[in-house]
Amino acid sequence: MEIGVPKEIKNHEYRVGLTPSGVRELVAHGHKVLVQAHAGQAIGFSDEQYLEAGASILPDAESVFARAELVIKVKEPQPVECRMLRPGQVLFTYLHLAPDPGQAALLVESGAVAIAYETVTDERGGLPLLAPMSEVAGRMAIQAGAHALEKAQGGRGVLLSGVPGVPPARVVVLGGGVVGLNAARTAMGLGADVTILDKSLPRLREIDNLFGGHIKTLFSSQSHIEAAIRDADLVVGAVLVPGAAAPRLVSRSMLKSMPPGAVLVDVAIDQGGCFETSRPTTHQNPTYVVDGIVHYCVANMPGGVARTATQALTHATLPYALALADQGWRAALMANPHLRNGLNVCRGRMTHPAVAEALGLPY
Ligand code: NAD
Repeated sequence: MEIGVPKEIKNHEYRVGLTPSGVRELVAHGHKVLVQAHAGQAIGFSDEQYLEAGASILPDAESVFARAELVIKVKEPQPVECRMLRPGQVLFTYLHLAPDPGQAALLVESGAVAIAYETVTDERGGLPLLAPMSEVAGRMAIQAGAHALEKAQGGRGVLLSGVPGVPPARVVVLGGGVVGLNAARTAMGLGADVTILDKSLPRLREIDNLFGGHIKTLFSSQSHIEAAIRDADLVVGAVLVPGAAAPRLVSRSMLKSMPPGAVLVDVAIDQGGCFETSRPTTHQNPTYVVDGIVHYCVANMPGGVARTATQALTHATLPYALALADQGWRAALMANPHLRNGLNVCRGRMTHPAVAEALGLPY
């Protein structure tokens, strides 16, 4: 099969769909991999490395999309990319369609088979292709939040760890999944005072077992959220309802109860955000202030550490890419119900119930 890897075109997105070592695995299975020139250059994966791994280098995205039967990307296709898709062509990438009706309409119109990384499942009920980026984003959320807390960035001038004689910062993490756990672990490692809220008691039990008394757990109710954020220095939004828009847990009026200069990092912004005042930002201009509270809402956080993120992503996607390429999309989806859960749009129809419902579209 001919597999295409175009260069990402979203603002400050330097990740790439496959590393050279991922290409080598696909080539070893007898496939032809077409990589757009300079696709990985910004993160130290040169065209020469892709050639050595057995890829062909094509000059532009048009030629990659025109030839590939399977297109492997990172971010959701931009309108210009959606228009290059053709009926029956397979697109394997992050889509995050629930808050993006424009993209959904273009994908339906294209007739392509769009498989979303973020809704592929595993036998333990996890999301194996979201997990590596969630690990990256969770760890980064604390790095970004610590920076935003500095006075020069608009923050309240608090050091997460405190110093001897001065208490550490209070960090509240909403959602104790992969992002939340990695954020909490990193904050704890820096010596912050960490509280995690989740709706799932089994999850809170697991976290309690993992960290003992080092991280506090709270059941996520409206009154617990209100109480927790009242004296928080840093709040990380890390909730997810799979395939649906993020629940709004913190309203604008609740910001007034927080200390001026406190920081909100909304990692769930790619699903619409869990703070009422969140709007997507970029790595170029990551923060803004509402009612004295600093907001960091970068929708593609792992893009900031694109080399690490690309390696982690390829390790996770490769087994599925091999299945799609070796067996063809129909047989691969029939054989693996977890990969089938990734199917969001198929030949002009929405096919994922939760995504279609979030968009108010039939499926
Ligand atoms: P996850 O499924 O592992 O965890 C989500 C957690 O949220 C679960 O434990 C769930 O019980 C909890 N939850 C759901 N509703 C809740 C509520 N009302 N209150 C408290 N907890 C609630 O998901 P994840 O991998 O941790 O991802 C979290 C979010 O981060 C997703 O929206 C994901 O798309 C996003 N994400 C964003 C970036 C970025 O660059 N901005 C990168 C990676 C992931």
